[in-house]
Formats: sequence, C-alpha cells, structure tokens
Amino acid sequence: MADIHFTYLPGDGIGPEVGAAAIHVLKAMAEKFGHSLKIEKHLIGGAAIDAGLKPLPDETFTSCARTEAILLGAVGGPKWDHLTGAERPELGSLLPLRKRLNLYANIRPCAPHPALIDRAPLKRERLEGTDFIVMRELTGGIYFGDKGRDNIGAYDECRYSEAEVRRIAVKAFDLARGRKKKVTSVDKSNVLETSRLWRETVNDVARSYPDVELEHLLVDAMTMHMLTRAQDFDIILTENMFGDILTDEASVLAGSMGVVPSASISDGRMGLYEPIHGSAPDITGQDKANPIAMILSAAWMLRLSFGLNAEAAAIESAVDAALTGGHCTADIGGTLGTQATGQWIADHVG
Ligand code: NAD
Repeated sequence: MADIHFTYLPGDGIGPEVGAAAIHVLKAMAEKFGHSLKIEKHLIGGAAIDAGLKPLPDETFTSCARTEAILLGAVGGPKWDHLTGAERPELGSLLPLRKRLNLYANIRPCAPHPALIDRAPLKRERLEGTDFIVMRELTGGIYFGDKGRDNIGAYDECRYSEAEVRRIAVKAFDLARGRKKKVTSVDKSNVLETSRLWRETVNDVARSYPDVELEHLLVDAMTMHMLTRAQDFDIILTENMFGDILTDEASVLAGSMGVVPSASISDGRMGLYEPIHGSAPDITGQDKANPIAMILSAAWMLRLSFGLNAEAAAIESAVDAALTGGHCTADIGGTLGTQATGQWIADHVG
C-alpha cells in the first residue's frame, strides 16, 4: 500500500471542473489498488488573487515544495486581464513555480488516439502510428535572459550553460531507452552559438547511450518534418522557445486540446502535472470541459513521481476505453458532461 501525498491546485476557469473529475478517478484507483490518498488543496492564480493573496501564495508554494508532486488545473482568465507583469495569474504563479522548484524538463506526448485521428488536420495515413514525446528545456534560454529597452530598441538575451543542456539531454536519452530508442535534437546551430553548445553537448551525452539513435534537425526544418513524417520520431529534445512553438504544433496532431497531458519535472520525484489547455473561460461552469487531459496528467503523476506504473496504466486504459466507445465530451464527439466522463472513467479503472 502506497501513500500518495500530493498538492492539488484547481486554479481558475475549468480548472476546478476537470480537477474534480481527475480527483474522482484517483479515488477510484486508490480504492482498487488499496492505496491511501493524501491531498493538500491550495489556491493559485486568479482564485488566490480573489482571496486577497498573491498569485502564488506562500502557503501554496510551501505545500508544493513539501509534497513534490503537484496536480494543477489551469490559471488565468479575462477577469484578471487588466493586471500586468507578476500581478497576472499566469506570470505571477506558473513561472516562479517552475523556476523555484527547478522544473527544468517539460514533457508532452503526441500519440493521436485512433478514435480522434480524423479530427486532426492531417490525413490519417500521415498520423497513424505517431507516438512521440517533446522534451522541452523549461528554465533557461531567452525567456529567462536579461531583457530590456535602450535608446535604439529592445533586446532579449539567450544563454545556456553546458550543465543545463547536459541534464536535460540525459533525461531525454533515459526516456528514449524505455521507448523506441531514438532522440531527435532540435536547434538552430547554423546561426546561434547557444545552439552550437546544445549540439556539442547532446553529442557528448549520446556517447554514453550507444543503443539510442541520435538525429539533429534545425528548428525551421523540424516544423515541416513534424507534419510530413511524424511517425519517425520518439523523443524530440529542444530548448525553451523552440519547444514552446513545437509543442503547440504537436498538440494539433492529437485532434483535441482536451486530451493532452503534460509534466514538468526536475531531479528525483519533483513534478508538476497539468493539462496543456488553459482555463477555457468560454465554457467555464457549463460541465462541457473535457477532463481527459487532466485525468491523464494525474496518471503521469502516479508514474513519474510515485513510480506507480500499473496504477497509471489502469487509468490510461480506462481513458482509452472511453475514447474508443465515445464515452466523452462534445468537443471530441461524445454526449457526456465533464463529471459524467470522469465517472465513466472512474468506473472502468482496473
Ligand atoms: P484555452 O486553452 O483556455 O482555450 C482555447 C480553446 O480551447 C477554447 O475554445 C476552449 O473552450 C477550448 N478548450 C480548452 N480546454 C478545453 C477542454 N478541456 N475541453 C474542451 N474545450 C477546451 O486557451 P485561451 O482561451 O487562449 O486561454 C484562456 C486563459 O487560460 C487565458 O487567461 C490564458 O492565459 C490561460 N492559460 C493558462 C494556461 C495554464 O494554466 N497552464 C495555459 C494556457 C492558457
């Protein structure tokens, strides 16, 4: 019997709705496998601002740092759009959370479900068999460099240390070893010095993984390869800004935003798990939100932070059955609401 102790941050908009469905599924899993769940629920984002707190309240951060596993809904929405800088829900909570917890590796899968392939904009034959993961560096590069204005314009500095590249390259090769044994490293080494360091370091790490194939691609070419030969990839390893762009491109291949989970991980068991979608203000409070991305994020938490592989797989196969049978929300062709979808999946765990 395991103690599954984590921090749950419902956040804003549809966050609490998809969160409730995921917690319901986790409870069903815990009962099936005889585990105990200990959930610390805290405010973040706009919900924290409305309670008179900072977007990332101290109590919330302390809980995240202590439990090391965090399940997050989404933050932000039009209600807080008038705020600026670190007062905004997203900037004031997600960026410091990633930075302070050293969540340097963001991973997002792209494995279109057979039942959703025809919802994607690519032809079926270009997508069938696609199963890759984008591993994006999350705490370095241009987003965190010195930035500002001077009397002639503006600048954003891009820096990477060798150690920052090495640690995420090691994670990518380790992940590839348990999958299709291929890493595609994406950079812009024909122009950028940081990319030349990236490529040299990845080549050096690759020497310790002779069983894993390594391919290098330039980011501009990669945007095309992802659409023309998506089936060829296993782990796509890239830096922060390129990963930001490529993960959005990859999310379209899945057929719906509502089914793609993500994890931002560090060393040890520290991890933040969240759906890739935002707070969807246009459908908030209507029981329309697809909870599957959040439920799959919870499954990833079980696997990556707690090492509970069979439990994660039991949730994933219940999701697979829901998608195959059309027991899902309207955005992917079903007729169920958010909570009924969660209930169906909970009933079929194990
Ligand atoms: P969004 O992802 O919230 O919504 C985009 C579209 O997808 C909307 O039409 C929405 O209804 C739909 N959608 C999203 N999730 C869905 C789901 N689970 N089921 C069914 N449909 C779904 O993106 P947006 O509208 O650009 O952003 C809304 C707010 O969310 C903004 O304040 C933004 O800053 C914030 N945001 C937060 C995060 C995060 O918390 N990590 C990520 C992205 C956006």
